Amino acid sequence: MRYKVTFIPGDGIGPEVMSVARSVIEAAGVDVDWDVVMAGERAYIETGSPLPEETIESIRENKVALKGPLTTPIASGYSSVNVALRKIFDLYAIVRPVKSIPGLSCRYPNVNLILIREGTEGLYSSIEHSFGAGKEVAIALRVVTRSTCRRLAHFAFEYARKHRRRKVTLVHKANILKLTCGLMREEFFKVAENYPDLRAEEILVDNMAMQLVLNPEEYDVVLTSNMFGDILSDLAAGLIGTIGVSPSANIGDEYAIFEPTHGTAPQLAGRDMANPVAAVLAGAMLLEHLGEAKAASIIRRAVEDVIKEGKYITFDIAKICGVSPASTSQMGRRLVERTQELMES
Ligand code: ATP
Repeated sequence: MRYKVTFIPGDGIGPEVMSVARSVIEAAGVDVDWDVVMAGERAYIETGSPLPEETIESIRENKVALKGPLTTPIASGYSSVNVALRKIFDLYAIVRPVKSIPGLSCRYPNVNLILIREGTEGLYSSIEHSFGAGKEVAIALRVVTRSTCRRLAHFAFEYARKHRRRKVTLVHKANILKLTCGLMREEFFKVAENYPDLRAEEILVDNMAMQLVLNPEEYDVVLTSNMFGDILSDLAAGLIGTIGVSPSANIGDEYAIFEPTHGTAPQLAGRDMANPVAAVLAGAMLLEHLGEAKAASIIRRAVEDVIKEGKYITFDIAKICGVSPASTSQMGRRLVERTQELMES
């Protein structure tokens, strides 16, 4: 089968890592017609818009996209394109698997959790106002709707069941945010009643930050709101050694966008240093979504093998393994080669 997928190289290290992801997918024998479009800083400079209409149309037509990280300027400039894409395509579930990589002997060798973060609401609703002549006061609205809480909880329990997980942990702060987190909590436990085969538990977000550092192996599927999930997913990526191996999927009922969890890492951009694994594993998530489970599992196996070999690994994992680092392109070539070897075996 031939698939048409929107491809957004992204900013910073995006083009370097995303081209590896594309080559690995092709090496896994999946026939993809890439519709290459722009977003982020590059699009802003070249077209005057960080999210050109052509990009939106491409995703609307193809329904799936593989996207690199995009620059979001701090304070002034344009608003987050990532937030805009999630809103436009109603991508309410952001799925981030965090799994220790065999052979990468970091502090936590047995982490295997799936962080599911709400993607369209909460404090990232982009509704902010400032008041007064000198703008002395600024507020941000934390929007939470019952319908999204309900569908997100359903998504998390269905995901847990499909992937043979044992429990779903809701992370919130309903003791302080009684109405907004309270609503999410109420819907979560209502939905949980339909899944008696799964354990449903809850934890306050501040305690969760500590528990993730103390006992990350205890967690299975973790469900939380937009901003808490943004922060906890970087923390969780740190547990397994580097954000350079953490993929992410933005899922809605009709559309899905896959990307590495990390940002544009401007200090690494153009230096052929960045770890391409997060982008490659995002590609594997995309293939699973398309129903190409075998190709996805070959890619995951190729990633494990290349890291275990320890010969062509980028600086972030080379440091943990105590070996000298390879470049993005060297690791990329080995990932492609290993994928081809596994395809032929
Ligand atoms: P942005 O504003 O786009 O999110 P950022 O620099 O704030 O960019 P990241 O780009 O995620 O955030 O970078 C966080 C840290 O992780 C940096 O130290 C960066 O060098 C490192 N990092 C991010 N991506 C990778 C990667 N693919 N390989 C190695 N290190 C990475």
